[in-house]
Amino acid sequence: MTDWFHETLHPSVRQSLRIDKVIYEGRSRHQDILIFENEYLGRVLVLDGIVQTTEADEFYYHEMLGHVPIVGHGAVKSVLIVGGGDGGLLEEVLKHPVDRVVLVDIDGEVVRLCREHLPSICGGAFEDPRTELVIGNGIDFVRETELRFDVIIVDSTDPVGPGRMLFDEAFYASCRCVLNVGGVIVTQNGVPFFQGSELTQTHRHFSHLFRRSGFFLAPVPTYAGGHMAFGWASELIDLSAMDIETLRLRLDAHRFDSRYYNADVHISAFAVPPCTRALMS
Ligand code: SAM
Repeated sequence: MTDWFHETLHPSVRQSLRIDKVIYEGRSRHQDILIFENEYLGRVLVLDGIVQTTEADEFYYHEMLGHVPIVGHGAVKSVLIVGGGDGGLLEEVLKHPVDRVVLVDIDGEVVRLCREHLPSICGGAFEDPRTELVIGNGIDFVRETELRFDVIIVDSTDPVGPGRMLFDEAFYASCRCVLNVGGVIVTQNGVPFFQGSELTQTHRHFSHLFRRSGFFLAPVPTYAGGHMAFGWASELIDLSAMDIETLRLRLDAHRFDSRYYNADVHISAFAVPPCTRALMS
C-alpha cells in the first residue's frame, strides 16, 4: 500500500507528499523529525508534521534568504543564523567573502541527521573553518552573546513548538542590540495567503524597533499557497531601495553560482502586491 505524508500546517487545507522510502523517523528533545524520499522532490525534511525543506526546491528559499540581505548590505563580514539546522542557508552564506558565520540551532539532532542524510543540502558547510556551530536556544544566544553581526538571518520553524518565541518582539529587540551599525535582520514569515498574521505581527514589531523595514517575496514550491514572505529591518539600510546598476556591480565584483537568485530576481522580489501590503496596515 502507498504511504502518504499529510502536512498539518493549516486546519482546512492539506498538502500530501508520497513517501517512497522512510530514511529516519524519531523524536528529539524538541520535536518530531521525519526524513523521507519522494520520487519527484528527493529527500524531504519534516519537523513536527511541517515540511521544512526538500532536495528539489531548497535553493529557492535558501538563496533568497541568504543572498538578498548580504548583497543588499554590501560589506558583510559576520553573519548570525538562528535556526537553519539543515545547513542549506549556511552553504549559501558561505559563498560570500565573510569572516565568520555563527549558526545557532536548538536541536543538535536536526543538525546531525541533516549532515548524515541530506548532504546535498548542506554540502561541506559545517566543515568550513568560518562556521561556528552552537547548539542552543537562539533567544538565549542573542540575549547573552558579546559578538556583533552585520546580518542576522532567522531561519526558523513556523511559530509553533521551539520556534514560537523567534517571532516575538523581545527576540527582535535582542537581535537589534547585537547588530553592527548598518546591520540588517531578515526573517522567514511564511506564506501570506495562509499565514498573513505572521507578516502583520512581524511588521508591527519591526516598525516599533527599526527605522526601516519591509518584506520581499519569493515562491518556494513546497510551501503551498503562492509567494513566501521574508521580513527585513535595519536602522540605516533600506534593503528595498537597491538600484539594479549597483546590484550588478556588486554581483560582478563577487560571482557565485545560483539557480534561482540573480540581479533581476533580487530587484523584483521587493515588488509587494496590494493584498500583501494590506497585511502591513
Ligand atoms: N526552511 C524552514 C522553514 O521555513 O520552515 C526552516 C528550516 S530550519 C530546519 C528550522 C530550524 O529552526 C530547525 O532546525 C529548528 O531546530 C530550529 N529552531 C526552532 N526553534 C529554535 C530556537 N528557539 N532557537 C534556535 N533554533 C531553533
